[in-house]
Amino acid sequence: MSRTPRAVLLGVVMVLVVGAGKRPPGLGDVTDIRVFDHPTHTRVVVELSRSASYRTGVLENPSRLYIDIDETWIEAPLREPQESSEDAPLQQVRAGQNTLRRARVVLDLNERMAWHRTFRLENPFRIVIDVYLPKGDSQEGSEPENFDRRPVRRVVIDPGHGGKDPGARASGGVLEKDVVLRIGRDLRDGLKRAGLEVFMTRDKDLYLTLEERAARANARAADLFVSIHANASRNRKTHGVETYLLDTRYDRQTARVAARENGTTIDQLSELQKILASLRLGYNERFAARLAQDIHQSLVSSLRGSYQTTLDLGVKRGPFLVLFMADMPAILVEVGFLSNRAEARRMKSKAFASRAAAGIADGILRYRDDHARRLVAGR
Ligand SMILES: [Zn+2]
Repeated sequence: MSRTPRAVLLGVVMVLVVGAGKRPPGLGDVTDIRVFDHPTHTRVVVELSRSASYRTGVLENPSRLYIDIDETWIEAPLREPQESSEDAPLQQVRAGQNTLRRARVVLDLNERMAWHRTFRLENPFRIVIDVYLPKGDSQEGSEPENFDRRPVRRVVIDPGHGGKDPGARASGGVLEKDVVLRIGRDLRDGLKRAGLEVFMTRDKDLYLTLEERAARANARAADLFVSIHANASRNRKTHGVETYLLDTRYDRQTARVAARENGTTIDQLSELQKILASLRLGYNERFAARLAQDIHQSLVSSLRGSYQTTLDLGVKRGPFLVLFMADMPAILVEVGFLSNRAEARRMKSKAFASRAAAGIADGILRYRDDHARRLVAGR
């Protein structure tokens, strides 16, 4: 168990016990409640056994936020209680049955909460609540400088998928989770040699949710986030390299890639699109666009050194959840198509991994150096 994501709470105090032991038939369940600490906010993820409608509300004296979940049962305790940090925006989380058919999760807030946002994710169904501290306020009075005002020192590498989630699969049996882990390890070694601090969201065959990946990067206050994936298409002739940054605007083909990487359906993406549209992406976007461009160019040219036919599919934009949840400039690279026989064959090899890793590393270092020059120039 790593220090982050950290389960804070959870007394899971049964505040509003109604008819304990008298569970009506036909309800879904709250299966887990997880809490992730972050320098600027705390994220609470309520996982359910199936989708449900819910409402949130804020109450004062003392300050608290509640989420009522319809047609849902909660069985306590979900976890043993743990100490929460005194300065966190959240004191504790309680959960219980509000009525026989409605579960209630209550977030007891520190008075310093400034605002919150709530959104839902699918597969499994989760309600995510972010509780923010007031702007300029931080938990320890030592919040790191914004990524745009500090040099690039710390990079988080996120090899996609893992464990029970194999990702894309080639007909020859090559799995995306293995291909991208090998690239991730090579990339880590290369970046460390170049003097960067490097963390991996996973360095073994491990299953992680998308919010766990982002939480690990956020808790490290990383300067950059690079998610590594391998592509798949129904058209087996499709091949090449593409790099993504986060955006709500996307075409049908991009939606397919995003849905696969998010573990959702294209229909479910429309919900995400609404959330994204309400956020200000502009600030981060400039940096992510540069990072994507630098990595993409280096990756394509490095792969062409060994595989001349490598096709440049360009830098694209799409609704990728893992990028949405990362606080720093974040990009996602698709190093090739496992659905294409020639690319799948080369992706099995160590040579491919080291070529891909070298290309991504070059792009990151170029971004680091350009960023350092811009800092000096005050731009
Ligand atoms: Zn993937």
